[in-house]
Amino acid sequence: MAKYLVALDQGTTSSRAVIFSEEGVIVASHAVEFPQHYPHPGWVEHDPEDILDSQVTALKEAVHLSGIDPGDIAAIGLTNQRETTFLWDRQTGKCVGNAIVWQCRRTSQIVEQLTADGYGEMIREKTGLIPDAYFSGTKLKWLLDYYNLHEKAERGELCFGTVDTFLCWNLLIGRPHVTDATNAGRTMLFNLKTQDWDDELLELLQIPRACLPRVVDSSGLIGMLDPAILGRPIPVTGMAGDQHASLFGQACWKVGDVKNTYGTGCFMLMNTGDQPVRSRNGLLTTMAWRIGGKPVYALEGSVFMGGATIQWLRDEMKMITRASESESLAESIPGTGGVYLVPAMTGLGAPWWDMYSRGTLVGMTRGTGRAHIVRAALEAIAYQSEDLMQAMIRDSGQKPEHLQVDGGASANAFLMQFQADISQIPVVRPRVLETTALGAALLAGLGCGLYRSTEEMAGLWQKDLEFTPRMDEATRRLQLRGWHRAVERARDWAEH
Ligand code: ADP
Repeated sequence: MAKYLVALDQGTTSSRAVIFSEEGVIVASHAVEFPQHYPHPGWVEHDPEDILDSQVTALKEAVHLSGIDPGDIAAIGLTNQRETTFLWDRQTGKCVGNAIVWQCRRTSQIVEQLTADGYGEMIREKTGLIPDAYFSGTKLKWLLDYYNLHEKAERGELCFGTVDTFLCWNLLIGRPHVTDATNAGRTMLFNLKTQDWDDELLELLQIPRACLPRVVDSSGLIGMLDPAILGRPIPVTGMAGDQHASLFGQACWKVGDVKNTYGTGCFMLMNTGDQPVRSRNGLLTTMAWRIGGKPVYALEGSVFMGGATIQWLRDEMKMITRASESESLAESIPGTGGVYLVPAMTGLGAPWWDMYSRGTLVGMTRGTGRAHIVRAALEAIAYQSEDLMQAMIRDSGQKPEHLQVDGGASANAFLMQFQADISQIPVVRPRVLETTALGAALLAGLGCGLYRSTEEMAGLWQKDLEFTPRMDEATRRLQLRGWHRAVERARDWAEH
């Protein structure tokens, strides 16, 4: 009886494979790092071969480590770094060049032109996205322009894909050219309402429909893994971009459920149900997932400097030697003594969207020391997340019951308690912190019929710790007021 689920998590710096039991427990996992390429300042590329090799190696090694028989794998789910763009020849399978990674800024000018020409609002309305070079659409346009491939693409001789598409094409029997709705939703070419590629946007970016993948559900049979890889064909029945998979793996299946991932940056998503919510506060509207043809939408916001603030304290300021040291330092004092750190080193995202703000430290006195600054840095991660959550609450009219957390910095108990205090919400950390992989596995489990409904999966997500708000309201207001005054000081600082 097949009873394991495998998640393939193709990330920005490594490819991982995680094997789960049907109870949602991790049996084995393996990660393989691969090189990043920076051919010019601001450009980031991946070698497509590296992506494939690292992912296949991770899968084989994880299966080997687990000691399970590949015949006992019920299904595989894919999850991936989003927006990274591949273009390859339909006949030979050879990519026209390296993949353009989501972080790559090479198409900033294309986006600026679109905005200057007044298309920003139309893009926003159709795709839910704020036009940006992150998204795949302008990256694909760049590839077609640079290699002069418009006619070839028009003839259907090329395939565009994000990582999910590229993996399916290369690893599944019969080379399906598919993407799931969550990944499609990050291209800036996908219409959230029609759930199809949008002709007006395709025309605007001169992208032929013939090179685009078929959009499938995030759960359901996509194809069979090539038996050359594990010795037998295995159904692939789940697929979603990483943040969407993590929302699913955090069991945020109800309208109003929110998760925040505290990694290098923080990514917060709220399930808004079957209707896309238009943000008035600078958030993105995106897919949560699509199952059984039914789209579920989400609001998404990110904090640019999340755990990266702690890295900066460690590597640049040399105030700590390990990230985890920040916790005991912060707890060694009762408060920051009025010090606020606004980590706007690369500008501020939602709800401020100020590219000209810069890192700012305010409120220091003669008694301010290292512990105050470290504590202010951790608090800043929570304040920024709180600003995102309030924006989501205002946009959606939903007040979440809990905040589900994961990511490296969610290990910090001071940060989690402070988040609970400042957001006046219980913060819940699950036992399986690998929520992205778990989400992919659960989507696959649902897609292959191992589970019949989310209700049936409810027991698979288990709470580890809950942080209950305990700050009094007057203190909370005072602290938040201080934070927002500090944000004002940080804003509009860099010369335009
Ligand atoms: P990513 O997936 O973005 O690489 P991770 O989820 O691995 O990130 O988290 C790493 C980030 O978390 C780093 O920026 C690091 O500074 C931060 N971090 C890790 N442990 C702690 C901790 N105990 N306290 C605060 N920050 C931490």
